[in-house]
Parts: sequence; C-alpha cells; structure tokens
Amino acid sequence: MAPVVELRDVDLVYVTGREAVLALEGMNLAVAPGEFISLVGPSGCGKTTLLSLIAGLIPPSSGEVLLHGRPVVGPSPEVGYMLQQDYLFPWRSILGNAQLGLELTGRLNNETMDFVLELLDGMGLADTAKLHPNQLSGGMRQRVALVRTLATNPDLLLLDEPFSALDYQTKLQLEDLVVDTLKQRKKTGVLVTHDLSEAIAVSDRVIVLAAKPGRIKGIFDIPDNIARTQPFFARKETGFNELFHEIWRELEDSDGKEG
Ligand code: ADP
Ligand code: MG
Repeated sequence: MAPVVELRDVDLVYVTGREAVLALEGMNLAVAPGEFISLVGPSGCGKTTLLSLIAGLIPPSSGEVLLHGRPVVGPSPEVGYMLQQDYLFPWRSILGNAQLGLELTGRLNNETMDFVLELLDGMGLADTAKLHPNQLSGGMRQRVALVRTLATNPDLLLLDEPFSALDYQTKLQLEDLVVDTLKQRKKTGVLVTHDLSEAIAVSDRVIVLAAKPGRIKGIFDIPDNIARTQPFFARKETGFNELFHEIWRELEDSDGKEG
C-alpha cells in the first residue's frame, strides 16, 4: 500500500541570525496506512522538527515531504497534531475546546457536533462537556486534547510527548486509550517519546534518531506478539526486555558526542 507519509532525502537547516543549524540530514522514512511508529532519540535530535515538517509548519531545506503521495505545502486537515501541553483555552467549556478545530476550519455542523459528543462519550468525558479545563485532572485534559485532535477526523496523528507530563498510572491508561482509538479508527500515528518502554509498547516500529545532525540511526520492527497486545500488557510479553536492551544500546551511543 502507498505510504500515508513519506520523507525523501530531507534536510532541514534552521537559520537564526548568523548561525545555521543542520537539524535533520538525509531523512528517509515512509509510514504505511494504519501503522503506528515512535521516534526516540536524545534531546535536540530533531524529533519535533520532523513532526513540524510532516505537519506542514516548516518546509524542508532540501528533499521532499509527501502526504498521500502529494508534496506537503502547508497544514492540512488530514493531519492532527497533539502536544505535551494540552493548550486548552481556560475560558471555553470542554465541549467548546473539543470542537475548536472544527470551528476554525468551518466544519462545525450537527453531524460533526454529534461526532464530537460521541468521542467525548467514548473517552469517559460525557459528563464534563459543560465544565471548564481547570475543573479537570491532567489526564482528563489530555483526553480532551485527544478528542479535539480526532474531531476533525484526520487520518494521520502526530503526537509529541503527549503522555510525558502525566503520572505513571494515568500515562499507562492513556497509552491504551490512544492505541485502541487509533487502531479502531484505522488511523496512522507518529509518536515522539523519551520513554523507550512506551515506544515499544505502543508501536509497530521504533525509529532511533541520532543528534548533530539529526538522522536515523536504527529502525526496529516490533514483533507481532508485542505490537498486537494492549500497551499495558505488552510490557509483559516475551521478548520485551530483550528488545528494550537492544534498542537502549543503540540509543546510548546516539547522543552525537562521538563525532
Ligand atoms: P527534539 O524535539 O528532538 O528535542 P528539535 O527538533 O526541537 O529536537 O530540535 C532539533 C535541533 O534544531 C536542535 O539543535 C534545536 O536547538 C534546533 N532548533 C529547533 N527549533 C529551532 C528553531 N525554531 N530555530 C533554530 N533552531 C532550532
Ligand atoms: Mg521535541
């Protein structure tokens, strides 16, 4: 099947004042429909930059970024982006926050509103629709952010450390919820995380990046028994620990200090 997103020989140079930073070099990557991949690597290796390129927020300095085979020229409703911070508007109700993307893209109608309510319900948030963000826990707020991201029905979701500010138990619950939701709705996902066990537990593939310049260091296919198991239980599957240590070793010498 044709990839949902593809990067071909992508370089990204940030120019600030008199300095130029080569944030990504020679990036080649294709993500298949319905696939869930994770990006791991040291701080500054270009993970967020990679998501920004896919989201159409910045253009590549050279090479191509393709979405469904077409060059990315700017943000598209086909792509949803969820961040570590939930960025909910405090003065808006939960429902008001959840439907924001639809409002901004002029697609709020009875049908899409019903879809938002269905998503809220599916995430155990039905009773919170009239509340405001400050009345919700961190985990609930991230669920609202997830609803808002899914509300516009993108087929590709970009997730930049969406669980890292949560306590451990909430994080495990949300991992399961996100993976279930994406698989059920046949979405494609790209997750950035600094938690290697999370990356292995939720993904079909883990991409290890190295820094200075940011580039792909290794690609690990996650065996079926782990990939097909809910993240919470995946951590107890045969081969999980061995794989963790194998990828860990790859990560250890990817901090860019060697060059
Ligand atoms: P990561 O998300 O993996 O921590 P980033 O993609 O944020 O890495 O950053 C990659 C590199 O690009 C880093 O060296 C960072 O300092 C630099 N960088 C990121 N954003 C900008 C920017 N807007 N302007 C200049 N340099 C940037
Ligand atoms: Mg980042």
